[in-house]
Amino acid sequence: MSSKGKLIVYTGASGVGKGTIMKEILQKDPTVKLSVSATTRTPRPEDIEGVTYFFVTKEEFENMISQNAFLEYAEYCNNYYGTPKKPVEKMLEEGINVMLEIEVQGGLQIMEKCPDCTSVFIMPPSEEELERRLRGRGTEDEETIIQRLNTAKTEMTFADKYNYVVVNDDVSKAADEILKIIHS
Ligand code: 5GP
Repeated sequence: MSSKGKLIVYTGASGVGKGTIMKEILQKDPTVKLSVSATTRTPRPEDIEGVTYFFVTKEEFENMISQNAFLEYAEYCNNYYGTPKKPVEKMLEEGINVMLEIEVQGGLQIMEKCPDCTSVFIMPPSEEELERRLRGRGTEDEETIIQRLNTAKTEMTFADKYNYVVVNDDVSKAADEILKIIHS
């Protein structure tokens, strides 16, 4: 893959504040763009088709898998999530720094395929704080919250596979730290 732009794997547990940090990064730095993933999960009220995700059926997603249309994909809490390959390749060729906001299994796939990528793992200040944030956003039912918290605990054991670990105790500080990493 062309490497005019940088490919950044960006992972963190559900509820850790990845999305908020990402918004700040995108506002602060026009050389950085976020790859839009495809998913089979149900849209949340704040989701915008083609902006937060491409929402597809399981059948559509599986067709994309068979057409080798993904750079990586994974199953997470009973849904598929994947990074469409072409747009990422195009942005990298254009010299854009592309961030992939993806979970651990996908992150590890990218690190294997693209060893030159930069990988950043976002940690919550504590597990208690993570649970408070996940419950506070009120978008998931109890079963999903418990499933996401358990997945988060497993995901955090993979943090040492990433090049950098950033603790989100302050959104602006975390965004600045990541921008520094991208441009180092
Ligand atoms: P959510 O349902 O909260 O939007 O996302 C659930 C998890 O899936 C998050 O950890 C998010 O980073 C991850 N995710 C989003 N898009 C992708 C993708 O394209 N590939 C993979 N592997 N994970 C993704």
